[in-house]
Amino acid sequence: MIRSDTNELLIEVRNLRKYFPITKGLIVQRRVGDVKAVDSVSFKIKRGETLGLVGESGCGKTTTGRTLLHLYQPTGGEVFYSGVNLEDLSPKEMRQMRTKLQIIFQDPYSSLNPRMTVENIISEAMVYHGIVPRNQRRARVEELLSMTGLNPGYARRYPHEFSGGQRQRIGIARALAMEPEFIVCDEPISALDVSIQAQVVNLLKQLQNSLGLTYLFIAHDLSMVRHISDRVAVMYLGKIVEITSSRSLYRNPKHPYTQSLLSAVPIPDPSLEARRDRTILEGTVPSPSNPPKGCNFNTRCPVAVDVCFQEEPPLELCEEDHEVACHLVTTKNTPTSSE
Ligand code: SF4
Repeated sequence: MIRSDTNELLIEVRNLRKYFPITKGLIVQRRVGDVKAVDSVSFKIKRGETLGLVGESGCGKTTTGRTLLHLYQPTGGEVFYSGVNLEDLSPKEMRQMRTKLQIIFQDPYSSLNPRMTVENIISEAMVYHGIVPRNQRRARVEELLSMTGLNPGYARRYPHEFSGGQRQRIGIARALAMEPEFIVCDEPISALDVSIQAQVVNLLKQLQNSLGLTYLFIAHDLSMVRHISDRVAVMYLGKIVEITSSRSLYRNPKHPYTQSLLSAVPIPDPSLEARRDRTILEGTVPSPSNPPKGCNFNTRCPVAVDVCFQEEPPLELCEEDHEVACHLVTTKNTPTSSE
């Protein structure tokens, strides 16, 4: 087992922002606003750790992952990898750095080129970067297929010959081909059948243990995130509203948004399911191009008070290793809808 439990910091994201411009005009395009997809997001990930990033569709999770990897150019903020600021790298240095930073995409159907064989899909980037000589590429592809639970003989087949779960394993093998240290897993199980989801999560955990990988695991399914994450960050409208250890988040969620998300996670025991209180959020998520004044969550929060409509709550430490952005959360209290 290689998994490192040291306290070495691998990824540090500071005030990361990604705004997409809104323009008007057919000939001369004027910038009339911004969609603030990611707005001052900060977090750290230690080597060998998995940080889960959860929230509803459109909250900015995927944009955060892609901006972290500089697949989208950040509007502002900084990303440090092993202490190196990615902004300081030249294009050539960034290309070399990319081998260490990989991504597994959400949709195993559209993320694989249907005209390429599995061998070409997996080996394309490693040949380009000179990671493996051409004459050893078949052997390496077969090794990667075995590592991801696929038959090495599949190398000459095409993506349409595989099920969704098998395609996602090919996507994982492609990411591993670069011998990365850090992988953004961008909703890797969302498009899969429930029965296959657990298998892919278990494979990712097993690969993490054997290869010492570090993950940012993006998902909207809180129950699956729990199984793979050491810590979890909850996002709402482009911002992180709560971040803590997986254990602390599921036992003692403090932000009203996290509480409502967790109250929607099914409990396998019907007797407990019938007795628990659900927090049903009313209203729709505001547009990230026009977020509300004060707290982003104030239009849907069941416990909002006056200050929530005036001042934005900062993300602050309320307990050891537990940060929350809510005016009502202090070191002593946690808001509940009955208050
Ligand atoms: Fe709700 Fe106010 Fe806390 Fe925002 S700051 S989550 S509106 S109580």
